[in-house]
Amino acid sequence: MSQYKAPDYYLLDELIGEEHRLIRDSVRQWVNRELLPIIEEYAQRAEFPRQLLPGMAQLGLFGPTIPEEYGGAGLDYLAYGIMMQELERGDSGIRSTASVQGSLVMYPIYAFGSEEQKRNYLPRLANGELIGCFGLTEPDHGSNPAGMISRFEDDGDHVVLNGAKMWISNAPFADIAIVWAKNPEGKVQGIIVERGMEGFSTPETHNKWSLRASATGELVFDNVRVPKSHILPGVTGMRGPLSCLNQARYGIAWGALGAAMDCYDTALRYAREREQFGKPIAGFQLQQKKLAEMITEITKGQLLVWRLATLKNEDRATPAQISMAKRNSVATALHVAREARQVLGGMGITGEYPIMRHMMNLESVVTYEGTHDIHLLITGMDVTGINAFS
Ligand SMILES: Cc1cc2nc3c(=O)[nH]c(=O)nc-3n(C[C@H](O)[C@H](O)[C@H](O)COP(=O)(O)OP(=O)(O)OC[C@H]3O[C@@H](n4cnc5c(N)ncnc54)[C@H](O)[C@@H]3O)c2cc1C
Repeated sequence: MSQYKAPDYYLLDELIGEEHRLIRDSVRQWVNRELLPIIEEYAQRAEFPRQLLPGMAQLGLFGPTIPEEYGGAGLDYLAYGIMMQELERGDSGIRSTASVQGSLVMYPIYAFGSEEQKRNYLPRLANGELIGCFGLTEPDHGSNPAGMISRFEDDGDHVVLNGAKMWISNAPFADIAIVWAKNPEGKVQGIIVERGMEGFSTPETHNKWSLRASATGELVFDNVRVPKSHILPGVTGMRGPLSCLNQARYGIAWGALGAAMDCYDTALRYAREREQFGKPIAGFQLQQKKLAEMITEITKGQLLVWRLATLKNEDRATPAQISMAKRNSVATALHVAREARQVLGGMGITGEYPIMRHMMNLESVVTYEGTHDIHLLITGMDVTGINAFS
């Protein structure tokens, strides 16, 4: 059992059963043992630690909610959330890899794929033999993905795919890509593109200050011939990619709080130990205000995602509720990270402590899967009934 005590101000542990506590502890121990000792070095080098993939697969972090008959862990959404929280306590980039694999690659194959596609890909994605990526965003279409210009044309038993995707997590090393493109009728469809198909390349995006331990790249399609059997038959239109985002946003809502918890823990420990003017800085009112506000916001976020998990398990969580939780958790985590960094003074900017890495990572998390502003508009539309997007 790990010595780490997560901030649990409202005794939420009591609401989590024994089975879920065991799942949490096994991810927590793995993060402490395998991830924390190496993550700073990999983030500084801007490299994804690929050696973590088999351990992540073994823990069931790839597709936790996918049924066991397809190689998934067959867990519920509370378990999925707890797993993402523990993983992101370590690093948002590593959680991103798990989110992409489970929510954005395995989920669409499970929800919209043919039986043959499910049997062919899901078990190998679950055990980490294959790594996937999800191509929705384009250079000129980010917040408005429906405007995408990537498209495919009919060519006998194949289609010919052209276009480009940008900002794609896992792209530089992914074995397969779930690509959303317009069919000859102009409707969005998902298609499975495999590395090695002629005309398909995945150049890496360099010089990121954020998610440095996660690989990001482009997907470029230059007359790529893809068998028609690779089209996901179960969905047409934006419902396909949006339902994947819904899954991933749910995981992020839990995950970002993990980063916040790590920042808070670090700041609290430091404030108790660091002395200035003859006493621990935790004894000064201004530092206590920061810590008090941090734990308050984290606790509010924890209650929100816990309730969301119940609704999700009952299949009652609406996309707008999930959107609110994603926005709130990431905004909370960013605020906590910024305050925690100040508590550490000069030490807060170094890699000796995880806070600056979390803070920089969260700048991506607040942008991807719908920006903070886009999620405000989703809530705004939900409560007013008026679309303010365009
Ligand atoms: C590290 C990283 C990893 C990513 N991984 C993936 C991935 O794996 N797959 C994938 O498909 N995408 C991925 N993305 C892309 C991400 O989802 C987009 O960056 C995001 O959707 C925003 O799009 P954009 O960057 O084009 O910004 P834009 O859409 O150009 O937005 C710029 C600004 O304008 C604001 N804005 C836009 N529209 C409105 C409006 N109607 N009203 C008010 N304000 C508005 C936005 O909130 C934002 O502040 C990733 C991004 C990053 C940074």
